[in-house]
Amino acid sequence: MSTSQMVSRKYNFSAGPAVLPLSVLEQIQAEMVSLPGVGSSVLEISHRAKEFDQILDETNASIRSLANIPDTHDVLFLQGGAALQNAMIPANLITDPGQTADYILTGTWGQKSAEDVKHYGKLNVAWDGKSTKYNRTPEDSELKLTPGAAYVHLTYNETIQGVQFPKLPIVGGVPIVADRSSDIFCAPLNVSDYGLIYACAQKNLGIAGVTIMIVEKELLKRSGTRLPHYLNFALHAENGSRYNTPPTFAIYVTGLVCKWLQNEMGGLEKIARFNLEKAGLLYDLIDQSEGFYVGHADKSARSTMNVVFKMKDEATDNRFLAEAEKQDMTTLKGHRSVGGIRASIYNAMPMEGVQALAEFMQDFARRNG
Ligand code: PMP
Repeated sequence: MSTSQMVSRKYNFSAGPAVLPLSVLEQIQAEMVSLPGVGSSVLEISHRAKEFDQILDETNASIRSLANIPDTHDVLFLQGGAALQNAMIPANLITDPGQTADYILTGTWGQKSAEDVKHYGKLNVAWDGKSTKYNRTPEDSELKLTPGAAYVHLTYNETIQGVQFPKLPIVGGVPIVADRSSDIFCAPLNVSDYGLIYACAQKNLGIAGVTIMIVEKELLKRSGTRLPHYLNFALHAENGSRYNTPPTFAIYVTGLVCKWLQNEMGGLEKIARFNLEKAGLLYDLIDQSEGFYVGHADKSARSTMNVVFKMKDEATDNRFLAEAEKQDMTTLKGHRSVGGIRASIYNAMPMEGVQALAEFMQDFARRNG
């Protein structure tokens, strides 16, 4: 009997760690005690064993083929979450304290990233959406970029505000560094447009513990010898992400999620259509609610991953949350800084979950409008 027949699962709208594909959970369960052909658990094998070579190689290959990654870019598996990258990125890419890095701020995570630049060089905030409570992304013409900047950083999808870039800004020849923690592989992407992409895995790519980085090899030359070992990107690349013990189990799960994305969901083009359909269901409902539901993001920058909205007051929001919980829809509370509701509908959220939420929202609006 499969897990799906044995236990009931709630629809989990958590922003992260977040819902995983059921088939991935079932495979983890089936292989937990003994990996097929290995005779030990993935939790027990050495990161230098040939069995783990295979897991790492396959995960790497899945990521490369899903995103069609060119030879110009390396894939690294790092630890410390996306948060460590707030420091590692400027440490590696700013080679002289006199250099400037440009940061485009479209929400809370971008703000946090920018805070660490001062330890390594100069920060230029190229655009800040604070005055409109981070509800949109900038037009290219609004960006105040620094000629010759070390890089331009942006958070492609702001998880808390539910604000996502509809396309990459054009920034000249400066490398783009993108935090794609909450929307990596939600749609096709052109890796050559980026100097560096990073994403913690616990939203769209697996579980907490591993951070995936796709980095242009040319940029690795900036790491030099000035940094402590663990902070040096080039050292991780030279050692095939095994400078030290990598998060083996988290990498194994990422491998399974990537295979699921390719084999069961049909790759990035198809998942993009699926995500647009899911998000469209909720945004259409918000738009047609005659003001009962008020979305946070401007229509031009609505996230396909985190749908953030409010009702007329906190008491109504709280009633919504309590009633949703009773109908087995969990973790819908918005981040405390924004309030309201946040429905995180990552790749692994099934259509049935979004449909259940949409039906509940319609019914709730009818009864409370
Ligand atoms: N960036 C974004 C866009 C995020 O959503 C998060 C986590 N919610 C982070 C960075 C921080 O990730 P971590 O907790 O893995 O450091």
